[in-house]
Amino acid sequence: MKRWLVFGWSVVIVLGLVRCVPGGGTSTGSQQIVCSLDAFVPNYAREVQKLLRWEQFPVRVYFERDAHYSPVWQTIALQGFDQWIEVFNPHIRYEVVDDPAQAQITVRFNPANADGRVDFEYYPSSGVLVKAEMTIGVRGNNTTDIRSVAAHEFGHALGISGHSTDPADMMYPTYVSNVPLQLTQRDINTLKTAYCHLFTNRGVSRGVPSETPVRGTIRCECGRP
Ligand SMILES: [Zn+2]
Repeated sequence: MKRWLVFGWSVVIVLGLVRCVPGGGTSTGSQQIVCSLDAFVPNYAREVQKLLRWEQFPVRVYFERDAHYSPVWQTIALQGFDQWIEVFNPHIRYEVVDDPAQAQITVRFNPANADGRVDFEYYPSSGVLVKAEMTIGVRGNNTTDIRSVAAHEFGHALGISGHSTDPADMMYPTYVSNVPLQLTQRDINTLKTAYCHLFTNRGVSRGVPSETPVRGTIRCECGRP
């Protein structure tokens, strides 16, 4: 078994309602949405520390062209991302961009370990993401594990900023090397909870004041035996 660990979040949600409030300072305005944690069950929305969300899709993904970039690893990572997209398209989708200035999610590969990490910037009262920076460890060049780490980290980057307690779930903090991670209904329902307005007739209810984004980090130390 390998272990993923989480650091950095200071605020814990949530019993009853999760308030999903797009923050001020965006080009599309400030909006509040209230999602029931029980709208889509089973889920592990109560187990994660926060549910964040992107305000619009497709979200723009950029692969950093540094010394560790590999088009082969990009292809493998996108296969991991697509495990989510195959379920959520067209509501939740991404596009790969070549201009780093257009990036909302930046992806880097790290040959030093087999860990994963996502740094977020988001509006605290709304949970609306501003940007995410994802690092995918590729030590060992194990295609199955790189794809699994990418899929797990993309779940964080889409807004599941915590972990499941069920070993069957994609977002459980440990996994068995060389065994592909698969999305479960609980993974799917948890992300649907973060984006309930896309899957119900619940509309935007009111605006919120402008605010300054804050940062958070999830480290997944999956390279440890
Ligand atoms: Zn994780």
